[in-house]
This record gives sequence, C-alpha cells and structure tokens, in this order.
Amino acid sequence: MANVHLRPGADRRSSPLCDKDGVLRSGTVYKAAMTATGSSGCQFYEFVWCNRAPPRTQFFTWLLVQERIQCRVNLLMKNIILDATCEVCQEAPEDCDHLVFRCPFSAAVWATLGVDTTDCRVPKFQLSPDDINSLDANNSVNDPVINWVFKDLMSNLERNGIYDVLLMDPSLSYLMLFDPDDSAKATEAQMLSSCRLVLLPVNNNSNPDQSGGGNHWSLIVFDQWTQYGPRLLHYDSADGSNFNTADRLANMMQRHLLIGTADLMVVRTPQQGNDNNCALFVIAIAKSICSWCERAAAGGQEADWSATLFREVDDAKVAKLRIELHKRAQRQNNDEGC
Ligand SMILES: [Zn+2]
Repeated sequence: MANVHLRPGADRRSSPLCDKDGVLRSGTVYKAAMTATGSSGCQFYEFVWCNRAPPRTQFFTWLLVQERIQCRVNLLMKNIILDATCEVCQEAPEDCDHLVFRCPFSAAVWATLGVDTTDCRVPKFQLSPDDINSLDANNSVNDPVINWVFKDLMSNLERNGIYDVLLMDPSLSYLMLFDPDDSAKATEAQMLSSCRLVLLPVNNNSNPDQSGGGNHWSLIVFDQWTQYGPRLLHYDSADGSNFNTADRLANMMQRHLLIGTADLMVVRTPQQGNDNNCALFVIAIAKSICSWCERAAAGGQEADWSATLFREVDDAKVAKLRIELHKRAQRQNNDEGC
C-alpha cells in the first residue's frame, strides 16, 4: 500500500478493450470474444435485431429463439408449476413453438392476419455444419460444441431440481480472462459466488486478435458444494500444460470472489492419448461431475466426484462420447430441417 500514490482527478478505466473515449462497450467485448474463440456469428442475429421492431419486441424474440421465455414447459422445468399442459386449448404441452404457432388460438390469430404459418417453427439452438464437423474423428472439438453440451447438462440438472450449478459458456470464461478490470466483474462474481459449483473451460489462446489461436482446453471447477470447499480445482488432461492460463483465471476469480488465499489446486486428471481430444475430456469430466451432482442431490453419500472420475473418463470412453455427440448433433439438425 505504501507504494500506491493517489493522484487528484477523476478515476479512469484502463482496459485494452476500451474505445478511444475510454468507454467499454459490450459490442467490442463481444466481438473480441467471438474473434478470439473463433466462434461463428449467431444464426438468429439478423432476424432478431436487424429490423425496425420496437426494442421490447426484439428482446422478446431474442428470448423466444433461445427458448428462454416463461412458457409452461420452462416453468415446469423450474418446478414452478406441476403441469405444462396449455391452459388455452388443453391439447398439448405449452412449449415455445406451441405458444406462438401450434396452439389453435395462436393459429387463429395468424390466420386472421392472413399469415401462413404452416412451415413456421421456433428454431432450436443449433450447431453449424462447421461445428458438427469438429466432432469428426481426429478433429479438435470447437467451443460452440462445448457450449451446446453444457446447455444440455444444465437442463438435465434443472430437471432434477438443481439450479445453482453453472457450466460456463467457453466464450464467457475467455472474456473473463481478457477484461479482468471490468467493473461488471463485481456483478458476475456475485452470480458465480451464489452457485454451489461453477465449471469454467480454459483455453490457452493468449492473443485475443488471433482467431481460434488456442490449441488446448482444460477445466477449472469452483467448488462451494462439497465439504472440501470453497476451493478452485484445475483438471488438465495434458499433464498440466494449461496451468499458466488457468492460474491467471483462478487469480482473477480469487480477487473478485473474495474466497481468501486458496490457490488453484492441480487435481489428478485422466490423461488424453490423442492431441485432439482435450475439449472432449473437458466435456466428459463435466458430465461426470454433473452425474455426481444428481446423485448427491438425491441423497448420495460420496464426498465428491473423484472416486468416479477415473472410471467414467478415459480415451476409449471419450472416443465413444465423440461418436455419440456427432450422431446426436446430426440428428438434431435433421429434425430441425437443416
Ligand atoms: Zn394451446
């Protein structure tokens, strides 16, 4: 503290992502994250935002295409109601698609307006052909695929009444690394600290200007659930090669989460025999931890997931998981008519 000299004048924000005026704009941060992680743009972007609809309509549509509106199927998943049947027609569960297009009441509204909705449907979150190709044998699985599986794992947890486990979108955990001084971190930290478990994928791309620059994924687990927490664990399937990046992210979390001096613990992790399987190991480890969460929530007695991790994650199982995810992604895209 003795070395810190305060100067008169207003505080200035200092971040590589600020624009010329020193203002941090979400657009710049979003673009940096998308470029750095090599993510393709969102397929709904133009449809939702590039029009003259009032902002509240655009925002509703944005939630709708991500199936996040409070329809009865979503309320049932959150245990807020006991039955998802549509109250208007009593004919079907009220999911997003039913609410907007299928319900006879909605269909009548569209018909009155003279709009033919026969082929319309609320699109599901989908992987692009490039994302699906990243699941081909020997390719490196990309971050939209990690995010796709993470969303699915979280939905399963929610179905089991577990709402305080967060599997973070890989582009968000990347963003946390690149803008550690952002004042929004306080809000994010609050969100993270309210979770019993947070899983953060770590990518070793150190240059936000270089698209897809990283070549290795590992996983940080912030544990406030087990008797050993709060603790920060690092799972690296390539012999600790991601330690430096993970340590930076962990330091940042320690600062913002105020969890004392607990250092990042390197945990014994199943090791990958194939260079291209790191993201799949991250997915497989996350899956194994989520299975433990479900058992623990149902009254299981295992202190944590370490006993099952090595049984559930190895090269052979990860190869099987790759095939399984590839099939599921293709099936989902075919079902959606793409
Ligand atoms: Zn209905």
